[in-house]
Amino acid sequence: MPMKYDVCIVGAGFGGLAAAAELTRKGMSVAVLEASNELGGSAGKYERQGYRFQSGATVGMGFEPGGVFDRLYTSLGLDKPSMTLLNPIMDIHMPDRTIHYYSKKAQWYNEIEHHFPEDASRIQAFYDEVFRVGEMVDAMVEKLPVFPPKTLSDWIRLTPMISRNSIQLLPYMNQTVYDRLKKYNLHQNRLFQIFLNGELMDSVQTSVERCPAFLGFTALQTFHKGAFAVHGGLASVAEQLSKYIKESGNEVFLRHPVHVVEKKGAGYHLHSKRSKVFESDYVILNNSVHNLHDTLSEELRNQSYIKPEKEKSREAWGAFIIHAGVHEEVFNNTDVLYHQFIDPNHPDDLHDGGQFLLSLSDPSDDQMAPAGMRSLTISTHTNVSQWWESEDYEAAKKRMNQRLIDTVNHYFPGFEDRLDLVLPGSPVTFQKWLRRDQGKVGGYAPTGKYSWIRSYSIRTGIKGIYQCGDTVFPGAGTLGVTLSGLMAAKELTR
Ligand SMILES: Cc1cc2nc3c(=O)[nH]c(=O)nc-3n(C[C@H](O)[C@H](O)[C@H](O)COP(=O)(O)OP(=O)(O)OC[C@H]3O[C@@H](n4cnc5c(N)ncnc54)[C@H](O)[C@@H]3O)c2cc1C
Repeated sequence: MPMKYDVCIVGAGFGGLAAAAELTRKGMSVAVLEASNELGGSAGKYERQGYRFQSGATVGMGFEPGGVFDRLYTSLGLDKPSMTLLNPIMDIHMPDRTIHYYSKKAQWYNEIEHHFPEDASRIQAFYDEVFRVGEMVDAMVEKLPVFPPKTLSDWIRLTPMISRNSIQLLPYMNQTVYDRLKKYNLHQNRLFQIFLNGELMDSVQTSVERCPAFLGFTALQTFHKGAFAVHGGLASVAEQLSKYIKESGNEVFLRHPVHVVEKKGAGYHLHSKRSKVFESDYVILNNSVHNLHDTLSEELRNQSYIKPEKEKSREAWGAFIIHAGVHEEVFNNTDVLYHQFIDPNHPDDLHDGGQFLLSLSDPSDDQMAPAGMRSLTISTHTNVSQWWESEDYEAAKKRMNQRLIDTVNHYFPGFEDRLDLVLPGSPVTFQKWLRRDQGKVGGYAPTGKYSWIRSYSIRTGIKGIYQCGDTVFPGAGTLGVTLSGLMAAKELTR
């Protein structure tokens, strides 16, 4: 006999867990089915030889008072995990300088004056705009609109949200960040663009030329609202959400891959391992739009408005990642936990090792590493196809691993000699861990000023089946993904 729930959720990423927690709070019976042995997906963890490694995401955002996670924790009656507020958010290591990327506005504006003395007042004016526009977008997205609107009721519900504020956003919806830089005559400041590209790649997966202004500005201002190193990694959040769901009487099943979702009567059947079947009235797919067509029965696939060829043609990055332990003395001369590196020989490369983020565990966080050691994650964007087409995959992996380590060694001499347990991973590894098609992670990369209009909403086009996660509006990052999970939960219970 199938186990029966109001809602079954495929995947225990941040989107799926947020949706499940919210539906649980609203009194629905929910089962989360997760294929792997871990919670949190791209923002999860795994443990090896006394280290805890973060599977992808390391920077927590939205935990400040009034932020997305702050509100979620309050509504669920939970206490937030312990965490360290990052200020500077990160150090950016460039060939001729280190920029301290301060979270506090006054300190950041001083840093701008220090590094960009000629253009400082214009960069500060640009940032004033970033903060203003970012606030307006946040105010809209917090209302959890279904976007882009698909049905008449989506349009009807969107209309009252259009206020004087949102009309002021229109100019930023048909311009890129680069267009705005031109307005401030900053488009020829190469150093500032290298810096901005680094931040935008990390948060929106794209560069100044291709990033819609309102998306880029929202991401940039989010850093300054508060970036955090969550103790135990962001997986601590996933663990708390799962605990809440289970203690409230619902279920989270690990090692339960969903092979197929099919229509049965008025609801759905989800087939999992050893012929186990789960039955529900509604389904939320959190296993990414990249995998939508692999999860649905042929009948349901044909009902979806998402066409596989179109979906596959959309640009998305993979990640090359290194997890390792490092002796704590290597970073003894800095309190900064997050370091962005620009390859001194190729400062304009945005991916494949040209620039990347190194995240160190907080020395006060004893869940992450044995005494005297720190756990680290290095990650760079990478084109996925090269890893599947490579004639010598192992050699390619070794080369990329060495390139990243060499760059860190350039800025922190002695780094390589003080490493322990170096575990590199490519998109092939990500597909294996997280099942995401070809190892594509982090959502779609915006490709121009109007690319946001082509986002996928939480609607799949199939009655009773919703989707959430980083391939769904508002997209990238644990914060955006959590909002999409809450949007799906809101729509489903309307
Ligand atoms: C290297 C890297 C660094 C990042 N850095 C940051 C950062 O610093 N800060 C930040 O906020 N964000 C960051 N991100 C982005 C963020 O991690 C993701 O956008 C977010 O975690 C994605 O969540 P999701 O809900 O879309 O689900 P995912 O994380 O994709 O999880 C989906 C889950 O579904 C499961 N699943 C898949 N198929 C099935 C199936 N058939 N049956 C059952 N379960 C299934 C998977 O095992 C997985 O657990 C980073 C991402 C990467 C890859």
